Amino acid sequence: MSAEPIVSVDAEPAQLQSYNPATGELVGSVPIADERAVQSAVTLARAAQPAWAATPLRERARVMRRCRNLILDRVDALTDLITREQGRPPVEALATEIFPAADMVTYYARRAGKMLKDQALPMHLFVQRRSYVHYEPIGVVAVISPWNFPFILPFSEVMCALLAGNAVVLKPSELTPLTGQAIADLFRDAGLPRDLLAVVQGDGQAGAALVRAGVGKISFTGSTGTAKKILALAAETLTPVTCELGGKDPLIVLDDANLDRAADAAVWGGFVNAGQVCASVERVYVARPVAERFTQKVVERTRRLRVSQGAATNETELGPMISDRQRAIVERHVSDAVARGAKVLAGGKRPDGRGGYFYEPTVLADVPQDAPAMQEETFGPVLPINVFDSEDEAVRLANASQFGLSAYVFSEDKRRANRLARRLMAGTVIVNNVIDSYGAPETPWGGVKQSGFGRVHGGANGLRDYCVAQHVMLERFRPLRRELWWFPYSPRLYRQLRGMTRALFRHGA
Ligand code: NAD
Repeated sequence: MSAEPIVSVDAEPAQLQSYNPATGELVGSVPIADERAVQSAVTLARAAQPAWAATPLRERARVMRRCRNLILDRVDALTDLITREQGRPPVEALATEIFPAADMVTYYARRAGKMLKDQALPMHLFVQRRSYVHYEPIGVVAVISPWNFPFILPFSEVMCALLAGNAVVLKPSELTPLTGQAIADLFRDAGLPRDLLAVVQGDGQAGAALVRAGVGKISFTGSTGTAKKILALAAETLTPVTCELGGKDPLIVLDDANLDRAADAAVWGGFVNAGQVCASVERVYVARPVAERFTQKVVERTRRLRVSQGAATNETELGPMISDRQRAIVERHVSDAVARGAKVLAGGKRPDGRGGYFYEPTVLADVPQDAPAMQEETFGPVLPINVFDSEDEAVRLANASQFGLSAYVFSEDKRRANRLARRLMAGTVIVNNVIDSYGAPETPWGGVKQSGFGRVHGGANGLRDYCVAQHVMLERFRPLRRELWWFPYSPRLYRQLRGMTRALFRHGA
């Protein structure tokens, strides 16, 4: 007899439960979208999009601003939801999710008109032509997002895609579905017309169904492994994908750095969101003459961190990790490093007597460069510190990685730091600071190597990348009957073209 479950066509959709990673309590549940539901969301979005694209940009921007105002009205409810569903402390939910979201809307809503207006292209040779680029929305955009920034990551892509005139189907992480739903509720309550934004819930199956559903572009943020699966599927339809993926970001402390600031930054950059940030400080390289003092400062600060259930108090600095699976990766990296001779200077275990997926903020020293803790994305509260003897060695070690999302340099000498920054293979390098450029909408965000390709934000490109850049070219004057290089060809035409080519370009004219 078949062991297959019998599924009725009209059965209620299965539910996706969302649990608090600090306590294991159920936070809520949402219906899972099957292939048919995903397809239907895309079909409805496609039907709704042309009217939205034809809506004046001023009106689209007004909806975005209303959405921002609702975020501000609901700030406590949103931070509370993020803390309960994802585990990060409320202060962090506010500083790293809500604040940048409000800023992102304010920035783009004010500038969208200028950013999306036709761009004239002055012609250097075809002077008789008028040429311009016109930004036309793509149609339906899929946004597939991870759990570690469940609000700002999907929100900013959804907002930019909508503002540019697209419809969006969002697939939030299966670990943070309620925050994903809260984003859709904000846009609905802000008056976004029906069907323009749909949320399809579920795991990788729902994500894969969305990739297959015939969208015009996929904005993916997540792991490198998932990106490869999405790219393989998207290749079948040649659907463009932007890939914002993992990292193993190095922080270099030069011998002239302000060690207090560098230590504060390393500790925040390593442990914010319990280390579950794509641009976390995942490796520290410190110059030998200051290594001992710097390491001591890091260890002191790490031991002072307050680890607890985020919702309990606004003084919590480290919440739980998202899942047992994620914590198991951390435990593997730490135990492997120790087996290879690394020293544990702080943490290195689960805190005593606590449920949930907590792990102590951990500082390691002398981790071999080829250990998983130095090569794979740990994505947890672990900060390995190694020593270097020359700038060249620091650059070599920092670049010896399959990833290249961000990198950080600490030095009091701006020129020296700037010179070093330009030698690092990373999409973003920040001097004397960490992580926060993602929140600055003017700056492009994205990686190199296995950290992905494509950029989000970056001023006007943040909107234009959700458009087809259509080039239109017109004749300024009544054109010749036919162009010189059109048929018919002849030896005479060849001589004429040769003469013209030499005359024009011989002296770089
Ligand atoms: P993940 O790759 O497991 O999942 C990301 C999303 O993809 C989820 O919504 C998931 O359901 C979906 N998905 C899974 N399989 C799929 C498939 N076959 N087809 C379509 N969709 C599928 O990543 P995660 O664990 O949620 O997030 C953590 C990762 O995200 C880390 O590697 C982190 O560095 C990275 N990240 C990168 C950035 C960045 O800006 N570069 C930002 C945040 C997180």
